[in-house]
Amino acid sequence: MSSLFKKRKHGASAGGDTRQSIAEARKNLPVFKFRSEFCDKIKNHEVVLVTSETGSGKSTQIPQYVLDMTSLTRAFAICVTQPRRVAAITVASRVAKERNCRLGSEVGYRVRFDDKTNPSTKLIYATDGMLLRQAMLDPLLSAYSVILLDEAHQRSLQTDVLFGACKRAMEARKKSQGKAKNLPPLKVVVMSATLDIETFLAFFQGAETIKIPGRQYPVQIIYTKEPQEDYIDAALCATLQIHEDSEEGDILVFLPGQEEIEDLALLLKSHLDETANLTKSLTGDVVQSLRGIGTDLSKTANIVNGVLVCVLYAALPPEMQMFAFQPKPEGCTRKIVLSTNIAETSVTLQGIRYIVDTGKEKSREFSSSTGMESLHVQDISKAQAAQRTGRAGRVSKGFCFRLYTEDAFETLQDTTTPEILRVNLAQVVLQLKGMGVEDPLKFEFITPPNPQSLKSACQHLFALGALDDKMQLTDYGSKLARLPLDPTFAHLLLQSEKYGCTAEILVAVSMLSAENILFRPSGDQLSEKAAEAHRRFASHEGDLPTFLNIYRAWRTEAIYTSSRKSKEKKNKESGKGKLLHGEWCRRSFISARAMSRANDVHHQLRAICTRPVDRNGLGMDVSKSCSEDMEAFLKCVCAGLFLQSAERVKETKQVDETGGVLSSTRKYRTKVGNRPVSIHPTSTLFGRNPAPKCVVYTELVTTKKTYIRGVSQIRESWLNEVAPQFFSISN
Ligand code: ADP
Ligand code: MG
Repeated sequence: MSSLFKKRKHGASAGGDTRQSIAEARKNLPVFKFRSEFCDKIKNHEVVLVTSETGSGKSTQIPQYVLDMTSLTRAFAICVTQPRRVAAITVASRVAKERNCRLGSEVGYRVRFDDKTNPSTKLIYATDGMLLRQAMLDPLLSAYSVILLDEAHQRSLQTDVLFGACKRAMEARKKSQGKAKNLPPLKVVVMSATLDIETFLAFFQGAETIKIPGRQYPVQIIYTKEPQEDYIDAALCATLQIHEDSEEGDILVFLPGQEEIEDLALLLKSHLDETANLTKSLTGDVVQSLRGIGTDLSKTANIVNGVLVCVLYAALPPEMQMFAFQPKPEGCTRKIVLSTNIAETSVTLQGIRYIVDTGKEKSREFSSSTGMESLHVQDISKAQAAQRTGRAGRVSKGFCFRLYTEDAFETLQDTTTPEILRVNLAQVVLQLKGMGVEDPLKFEFITPPNPQSLKSACQHLFALGALDDKMQLTDYGSKLARLPLDPTFAHLLLQSEKYGCTAEILVAVSMLSAENILFRPSGDQLSEKAAEAHRRFASHEGDLPTFLNIYRAWRTEAIYTSSRKSKEKKNKESGKGKLLHGEWCRRSFISARAMSRANDVHHQLRAICTRPVDRNGLGMDVSKSCSEDMEAFLKCVCAGLFLQSAERVKETKQVDETGGVLSSTRKYRTKVGNRPVSIHPTSTLFGRNPAPKCVVYTELVTTKKTYIRGVSQIRESWLNEVAPQFFSISN
């Protein structure tokens, strides 16, 4: 293996963590010295901005300081927002442990499709999206006396909207509305690792600031000599090189997304295995468990040649994430964590001394001219590179290997563009309308989005029927807003009533929310096996019908007890001839964790759909089923996703003297935006002969070209039928 970096020796050793009691450890965190200063400030001011290094105790400690100020909390709860569900869950668990209480009692969390709070929970960690939903139902946010907006520097879409929503609530509570309800003033704490203080001070005028110096050892930065073409390959080489040449200390590798992480995990494990001269021919089962597909993945499956390889990304269920946070097991010499930008600031990993930074992240981009959103791999900003580097200096001197040249670093943007400037704002507009904001263009945004993006979001919602021609929220729009889904998928779900297929669409939407249901291993033999296993579910009508097949097969063939029910007695009788969930998934090459997540989402969505309208539900009959009538199902899919339809490109070719032949290609053009796209290779419709004439899709992915994913076949004539106003205008 060629070397990316010069060989290097060093003598520093990792400073081991002394075993301290939790109480003592809390006192040793950098924020502790600022406790009384913080308490004074929050007592006497409405807004306090806190900045400090990751790991200094913002997320876990400051909310507890507030919680212990009984004068502030009294009959009210406090809410801490996190842009990511992983962070909300892990931080809440940590705080519950520190306070020696059960998670869901005094301390709890609230994330999409999972609520671990009870009516007396005082400290709630929530995703920013969940608090925003609450602001829609109750714009005064009257359950809370203090709201802490964490990870403010990430400038996630929902956090950005929350800044405005909190400001509105603060103002309203000072006026008669709040007084009438006898609400105390709302206080806001903004917390961040690297805050652009000026922007926040301009927005929250008169805010107090506290800057807490971090504990940071020097980190040596090493750039590559040459630009790297393949960052996965480069990350593999760098990680193995560090492992072979360097002293103890764990390695954290930053990669753009889940796929890259799982690919690299497999590559690393097989290379580590080779160096151990162990059996090279991994059996299917071993590779599957390496990939973390089984639910009862044992730790040892991830330890190869004394090295523990862990993965960390937002879609990973919390139980699986715990591996990355736990100390190395006995006999393990090194831990390698492969993570997305989630480990940049949201979570704290102990013992990291080496960073491998690919310089990439995955992010959404929206084009207001074409009205389309897509997922890109793109370069990080200089601020993010610095954050990543800092992760290596927590225990002792560290090293950061940047898989790009110093010149490339100089070309990076200084800071990350706020998400609100990059994404489809349909959901934001719907939320603002739900909160009673008349004109979203006049809403106080910390960074106002492009007015054109807001307009195209309004058009999108108008096309779905969520807004009327005066841009007022319709009854249908307020129903859409009740679902914790993107407005397009909420619309898809609501359309199912009309087509009599609510049961089926609920399944399809849940499977889509779970992401990466199908397990596609690399390696010729295995991938062939997986393809064969998947063939049994494949519908020639597309990916959504395929999801339905998978779910139905799983329901009839597998025994599954969700953690919710695990304590109830298992019904052994009904399990005869069935396989256990993990085993069924293994044999079917289906991701067990994605499947159980889909099942969870299904459960929650079903509850919202069934709940009566006057209790903020939708009062739907979820048992309405089209059973085998695929036409009804596909028509509904068409009605739900009509804004995401694409038509196959026709080409006329003169073939021979017999005359012109209309030959068709495998290229498509989107109906909205007229953008050239191709069916993604992972779709069941990829390579189908003949290629379907007209399709709808759930997602655009741009790499070198633009692909559509989640593709289902439709009839073109349906488009006029399901959305006559829209297609007659655009035609
Ligand atoms: P910040 O929000 O400033 O990045 P946190 O409050 O998340 O910091 O973490 C503060 C410290 O608490 C960390 O440095 C770590 O020592 C400890 N800690 C946080 N989460 C965990 C956890 N899940 N397990 C063990 N220790 C943790
Ligand atoms: Mg934090």
